Amino acid sequence: MHVDELISRLKELTENKYLQCIQCGTCGGSCPYGMYSPYTPRRMILAIRFGLIEDIISSNAHWLCTSCQLCSSRCPSRIPITDGIIPALRELTLLEGNPPEELSMALMNIMRYGNPFKESPRKRGDWTKELDFEVPLMLKKKKADVLFITECFGAYHRRCKQATKALAKVMKVLEIDFAILGHEERCIGDHARLCGEFGLFEDLIEKNLKVFSKYEFNKIVTHDAHAFNALRNFYPQYGLNKPVLHHSQLLHEHLEELKPLFNELNYKVAFHDSCYLVRKNGIYEEPREVIRAIPGVKLIEFKRNRENALCCGAGGGGVWLDSVIREFVKERLAEDRVREAKLVGADVIVTGCILDIPMFEDALKVTGLDGEIVVKDLAELVLEAIEGGG
Ligand code: SF4
Ligand code: SF4
Repeated sequence: MHVDELISRLKELTENKYLQCIQCGTCGGSCPYGMYSPYTPRRMILAIRFGLIEDIISSNAHWLCTSCQLCSSRCPSRIPITDGIIPALRELTLLEGNPPEELSMALMNIMRYGNPFKESPRKRGDWTKELDFEVPLMLKKKKADVLFITECFGAYHRRCKQATKALAKVMKVLEIDFAILGHEERCIGDHARLCGEFGLFEDLIEKNLKVFSKYEFNKIVTHDAHAFNALRNFYPQYGLNKPVLHHSQLLHEHLEELKPLFNELNYKVAFHDSCYLVRKNGIYEEPREVIRAIPGVKLIEFKRNRENALCCGAGGGGVWLDSVIREFVKERLAEDRVREAKLVGADVIVTGCILDIPMFEDALKVTGLDGEIVVKDLAELVLEAIEGGG
């Protein structure tokens, strides 16, 4: 067991703050899986203090965490649990060659192919072929106002590509000068970081920044909340010096142009605050203002909203940890969330992170709520309002 490495990584990643834990239990009480976990963050820190690290690792509790940031945002000692303690424990498991299999495959694929799906990097821009206009490649165009980062799910996943195409169409309507990297883009790496694969994360940053440096652009836009988080909060430490916008911010910036284009939609919309928009980056009003501007749309709130929003369960590798999570819980977070949408009377869940879409659509099927509630990315809702509804 690489205990010394773990202690030194804990000190580094938490700036020694993990030693300031007052054992208040706020983290465990906040954690959506706290009641199922044998090691809440409080108990993890206690076990580390007593040298019982092997007990945490063998319990798999560090893989139950969905990186939702609720514990970190409420910890009175401001301990970076999600960005420090959990990834340090995960890194130890990776070092010992014992990570969960599905996650291990995804990380291996990211390393080899630049995406978790084992897809050819050459196919990363293939979603553009499904549009009736050309989406410019930076390789040809060389400069653009906006560099649109689609990230892996947005580029390859069958359902998520619909949201990517919707955002491209809206940017086209708005006459935004944008371009993509296509086959030159690779995973931005936030999930690798949260899974403790720091070496892979740094490698991805270096490779992506090298590609960025070939082109002229004024800002980066992405509809993937994890990519947004990594580009905004970690890439600058390695030299990125361009503003990074979430697509809700871009749409909000263009709201006065959009308003006259909107047709009426008859929806009761609940906006799902993604963990990496709201708790890490404080973005919650922009998407709501865009939704409110669409005539006929009634914005209703989840009971747990804004800083208190419930996670979809996909973050920090959760999307590849289903079998581990199933060992601990009967109902996944996304299932709880769609039941909450039903409870507040929503017929549409609007999302701001690309991973939310497959998580909630799967949860709607499992709970029997598909047909009653649909899931749309914010860009899909905006495009529908522009095109006149279904
Ligand atoms: S909330 Fe913070 S201080 Fe309180 S037990 Fe958890 S880690 Fe320790
Ligand atoms: S980040 Fe979320 S899931 Fe992970 S331990 Fe903290 S509250 Fe629990």
